[in-house]
Amino acid sequence: MNDKWLGASGLVLNEPLIFEKGAKGRKAYSLPKLDVEKANPEDIWPPKFIRDELEGFPEMSEVDVVRHFTRLSQWNYGVDSGFYPLGSCTMKYNPKVNEEMARLPDFAGVHPYQPEEFAQGAIQIIYELEQYLGEVSGMDRVTLQPSAGAQGELTGMLMIRAYLMDRGNPRKKVLVPDTAHGTNPASSSLCGYQVVQVKSDERGRLSPRAIEEKMDEDVAALMVTNPNTLGLFEDHICEVAQIVHQKGGLIYCDGANLNALMGLIRVGDMGVDVLHFNLHKTFSTPHGGGGPGAGPVGVKAHLADYLPLPVVVKEGDRFRFEYNRPKSIGKVRSFYGNFGILVRAYSYILSMGAEGLKKASLLALLNANYIRARLKGTYHLPYDFPCMHECVFNDKLQNQFGVTALDIAKRLMDYGFHPPTIYFPLVVHGALMIEPTESEAKETLDQFIESMIQIAKEAETDPELVRSAPHRTKVSRLDEVLANRKPKLRWKP
Ligand SMILES: *Cc1c(COP(=O)(O)O)cnc(C)c1O
Repeated sequence: MNDKWLGASGLVLNEPLIFEKGAKGRKAYSLPKLDVEKANPEDIWPPKFIRDELEGFPEMSEVDVVRHFTRLSQWNYGVDSGFYPLGSCTMKYNPKVNEEMARLPDFAGVHPYQPEEFAQGAIQIIYELEQYLGEVSGMDRVTLQPSAGAQGELTGMLMIRAYLMDRGNPRKKVLVPDTAHGTNPASSSLCGYQVVQVKSDERGRLSPRAIEEKMDEDVAALMVTNPNTLGLFEDHICEVAQIVHQKGGLIYCDGANLNALMGLIRVGDMGVDVLHFNLHKTFSTPHGGGGPGAGPVGVKAHLADYLPLPVVVKEGDRFRFEYNRPKSIGKVRSFYGNFGILVRAYSYILSMGAEGLKKASLLALLNANYIRARLKGTYHLPYDFPCMHECVFNDKLQNQFGVTALDIAKRLMDYGFHPPTIYFPLVVHGALMIEPTESEAKETLDQFIESMIQIAKEAETDPELVRSAPHRTKVSRLDEVLANRKPKLRWKP
């Protein structure tokens, strides 16, 4: 191990639970002596809400409280602390200027019940962001309401269902390739459709033949992730879309991975009817840990009547919300979406410009292909093609020494890197899915690559070292199954 590099060491302090700290009677404040009569709590609150004793409540000084939470925050690992190659998640750096914009008091403080005439600037941002996303994707209309990629999928599928119902038959099935993101079959199913899996070919892609075989007049849509979860571009998408359209079905494209495509190709030009974006991946919202997010949905003109309520309309230089839309699928969440995230995306798009977005995608592709080319041979590459924004290896070569993808991922932490996504996509046994994003310098990628090569050597010469990793973290192998099955969420004194 090369200690010049990253790796956990030094002054990262241990910290017990807050309940285990402090001392009886210690306080984080000091107030002057009361010079008025002490009020009786029972005159203020109903007695049933008044506790005599707060057993086990931590009593601490101010500095101890500050240190407690500061120490815990230092245990966190995020994009601001280091490389985070978590495939399918686009954990890229989010420029701080976009955070600043979202925090401007007039944006942060705007109230959803504020009359439209006093929120013109905010509504204009919603309107213009819809236009920008339409331009990036080639879709005719966009809604910004859904709060996650998965909710965007459900919104899109509900619109497809409403459209088909208007034509007399909502149909029964949705085709989903085996390389799709797991949320795709889930959303289809939530929308009442039966999921029919389509096998990808030996190139890890959809073949027109496979679609032809499964496509019939019971199929409502094909839901396709592009680039797919192997990081490969679905290069038969136009032909496939034609086959589906001929039989009256629609194409849903999961565009969560738009970080690979911005400024390079427009999904709307490839026969796609509905597309969702993940603003919290591609467009500058930090994510992880469950949100908040934003999963806008773009549609072609023939689906515009079904968009969720309300839609924003521009009249002269004024903006307003329109609710009178009889064909709309209705509301998919409260108010107008996660507005702060929309501001970040708006600011990101304006500050990057068209050329900047294109360059971001090109660098994301370059970085992924650099890692792919340098690690190929050291790690097995089951689909050996140029990739888009991520590349998928597996643990086949290390398996012969008894080392698995999980062991490799754990050992990477000793080298100071967040592990990549493992065991996904499901079509690759023992997958290691690496997405470097555009925001990393070559030096960082080289450190990561060298660490991966080193781990491959260790797997051969000292497999036990890798199997028992991580060694330099605060805790090593946790019982993840037990933690999930029996979470301990309550502390008892
Ligand atoms: C992340 C992701 C999703 C789901 O997005 P959420 O915001 O987590 O619901 C869907 N599809 C793909 C391809 C993704 O990468």
